Amino acid sequence: MNDDTTDRTGTRLAALGRRPEWTGTPEHPGAVVNPPVWRASTHLYPDMAALRGHPANEDGNFYYGRRGAPTQWALADALTALEPGAAGTVLYPSGVAAIAGALLTVLRPGDVLLMTDNAYEPSRAMGRGLLADFGIETRWFDPTDPDSMAAAICPRTRAVLLENPGSLTIEMADIPRLAALARGHGLVSLLDNTWASPLGFPALAHGIDITIMSLTKHVGGHSDAMMGSAAAGPEWYRKLRLRAQNLGIVVSPDDAALMLRGLRTLEVRLERSTKSALAIAQWLSTRTEIAHVLCPMLPGAPGHDLWQRDFTGGCGLFSFILKGGTGPARDALIDGLSHFGIGYSWGGFESLATPVDPAPMRSATPWPPAAWDQADRFGVRLAVGLEDPADLIADLDRGLAAWHRAGAAA
Ligand SMILES: *Cc1c(COP(=O)(O)O)cnc(C)c1O
Repeated sequence: MNDDTTDRTGTRLAALGRRPEWTGTPEHPGAVVNPPVWRASTHLYPDMAALRGHPANEDGNFYYGRRGAPTQWALADALTALEPGAAGTVLYPSGVAAIAGALLTVLRPGDVLLMTDNAYEPSRAMGRGLLADFGIETRWFDPTDPDSMAAAICPRTRAVLLENPGSLTIEMADIPRLAALARGHGLVSLLDNTWASPLGFPALAHGIDITIMSLTKHVGGHSDAMMGSAAAGPEWYRKLRLRAQNLGIVVSPDDAALMLRGLRTLEVRLERSTKSALAIAQWLSTRTEIAHVLCPMLPGAPGHDLWQRDFTGGCGLFSFILKGGTGPARDALIDGLSHFGIGYSWGGFESLATPVDPAPMRSATPWPPAAWDQADRFGVRLAVGLEDPADLIADLDRGLAAWHRAGAAA
């Protein structure tokens, strides 16, 4: 199957990574639909001349298991094809490993990293822990205010780590503007683009240098495998790849095959969960119990203008903030749901709900935001899956009844 870049996304998702040499034998190229699982640590050479003359350290050459084999190559190839401007994609065993691998490629002791204040907590922990231990300082800034990022830049600033929208508070930043600001100061810009994927937001095309995803979420899509990726143009791709080799990073071919399976249905799953999330967000916005619906796809919600301007798609992940109430009442709401599992992930076929308590994780901006009624602080994050949205709405209706019973208004 050959990918034709003039085809539309769904057509390309069906074809990507299915090179005839990866899905068949020399006699029968392309004989099976999917690249088989190549389990291989040792790669064999036909003779000494081949071993001595093995090709340079480039993609697509057999060498040794740590550099992967066609199953991993097919996935990386497919992800690169989906990201306009990418020269290649490095695969990591998790999304967190991708963030660490990319930061360790870009930063050196003595550097300062700027990090968006809405970043995923393990990214923040990396700044406080791993990076601090290596003599790299992290400073946080308000993602919704470009002046806040500009003010944080100093002569030692080397890079900026963005996440958009933030995966807990779903705050939207003006990424093209922040990326241009970074470039203007000679900083490397990295974006955790897990929420939108390149289907909703082609990050490199919007000025980002390195785009990172937790493939565990949307690409896997079935809550049964973990992986991460980082894609970049030629210069940063080569550096990412060499640093990943230094770190001994390799992903299992079984997991790569699961990711390729998920990738085939990425567009239809995202379309369905986006539509359902929007319907649920709309319903929540009519309820008197809800103070804020943090869903950029929803007209009138925070960040909707940026979403409309920059994004070609959404996903099922958003949050809402209850009007007043108590922590135990919020817990009763989540416990009162039967179609939403309670767990720290998203992007799977199944819906999930988790509490949103970002206050202790902020350092540059207050939470709740100063403009809000400070009693409105108990949030819930929903990862809307593929269930029928009418059933999910009925479930949330029961959850809100449990919230009232638990004395929310007390
Ligand atoms: C889950 C997540 C990650 C980390 O991915 P893992 O594959 O779980 O390590 C990174 N960024 C965001 C925004 C996430 O939601």
